[in-house]
Amino acid sequence: MDRNQQLFERARQRIPGGVNSPVRAFRAVGGTPRFVARAEGAWFWDANGQRYIDYIGSWGPMILGHGHPAVLEAVQQAARDGFSFGAPTEREVQLAEAIVALVPSMEMVRLVSSGTEAAMSAIRLARGATGRAKIIKFEGCYHGHADALLVKAGSGLATFGHPTSAGVPPEVAQHTLVLEYNNLEQLEEAFALHGPQLACLMIEPIAGNMNFVRASVPFMQRCRELCSRHGALLVFDEVMTGLRVGLGSAQGLYARAIPGFRPDLTVMGKVIGGGMPLAAFGGPRAVMEQLAPLGPVYQAGTLSGNPVATACGLATLQEISQPGFFEALSARTRSLVDGLAAAARAEGVAFSADCEGGMFGFFLLPQLPQNYGAVMKTDGTRFNRLFHGLLERGVYIAPALYEAGFVSSAHSEDDIALTVAAAREVFRTLAA
Ligand code: PMP
Repeated sequence: MDRNQQLFERARQRIPGGVNSPVRAFRAVGGTPRFVARAEGAWFWDANGQRYIDYIGSWGPMILGHGHPAVLEAVQQAARDGFSFGAPTEREVQLAEAIVALVPSMEMVRLVSSGTEAAMSAIRLARGATGRAKIIKFEGCYHGHADALLVKAGSGLATFGHPTSAGVPPEVAQHTLVLEYNNLEQLEEAFALHGPQLACLMIEPIAGNMNFVRASVPFMQRCRELCSRHGALLVFDEVMTGLRVGLGSAQGLYARAIPGFRPDLTVMGKVIGGGMPLAAFGGPRAVMEQLAPLGPVYQAGTLSGNPVATACGLATLQEISQPGFFEALSARTRSLVDGLAAAARAEGVAFSADCEGGMFGFFLLPQLPQNYGAVMKTDGTRFNRLFHGLLERGVYIAPALYEAGFVSSAHSEDDIALTVAAAREVFRTLAA
């Protein structure tokens, strides 16, 4: 047994499945999870001392790569000044101001510690502010593991969802309507049937939890129009896309295509904390002031706005706000995606891929899928062979075909070239 196997054995004795978040367990792809010993820049080393080029970056936060000097310095200084106070600090104000400056639809923000918490709180706020109970979500979008959001579609549009997890009472799921992503017809029908009861529509504008699928511009425009007409809030879950697909986040991209476009509420996480437990939700003052201590919607947290986490987030935001940062990151990500596509083409493997900023997705499918059902047409066995082929060659991509990938500013042209060369070798075995 190697060190990873030994650690996994030990972990399974004391931690359910050996991991503290399910996708880390390699259940979909098989094999032994790699236990990370340390990381630097675009790489990490596992317990055996094997090096990998890291394309998950903690599932999004590590946009500067691991151990960026300015971030490290800020975190070390903050830790010396105190870990947690349970009283306000200046850095919380600075981070809120920095987020508002980049994403103007968020007039006010509340800081929390995880994306789950942020999404759950945004739903409570939407319900509190509208006095309505029902919410719309989309199949294949993940918004964390709050009860009301762990729901799959019911048998028809007139019926509400069923829990996808044990431990969620059906009554909790009964207010959640689950629709197909990018399906205009279902969207129209849902608002026609339930418009006056809808508190909000929550959506990942670029869905990163069914690999990488964009909401089409006409679909997003219609989401906006229907929410406005029926008095429901449009909630953007930008936990993954926020400050990752560009400085203006995904909403900035839609605003370029749809004049005046903005969501009502936005949920953020990952990049704003730079790898520390930090997330946020925000929106117009009139809605945000419904929160305690001003308003009737309760929300709180012992570690919310944690001083070390806010230092990490602020230092990260400072770096990604430098002129040219996103141009360079986008170009690097684009070169990865184009390189993979060319390698697949050369080896006769059906392949499609897309990217925005430092986020990408690729599919062993001839065309980019538009919804969850289409993503899941991928041949899982072939994906698993690709995953393990890359892993053996020192390239670590997400261990599941329905996850997006992430490039950091620490990924060099050499890293990309190594990745493309490794992929070409694996594609050759797939084609054979
Ligand atoms: N929303 C989205 C879009 C996410 O991708 C995630 C996590 N991957 C979450 C919410 C939940 O965030 P967390 O894991 O920090 O609770």
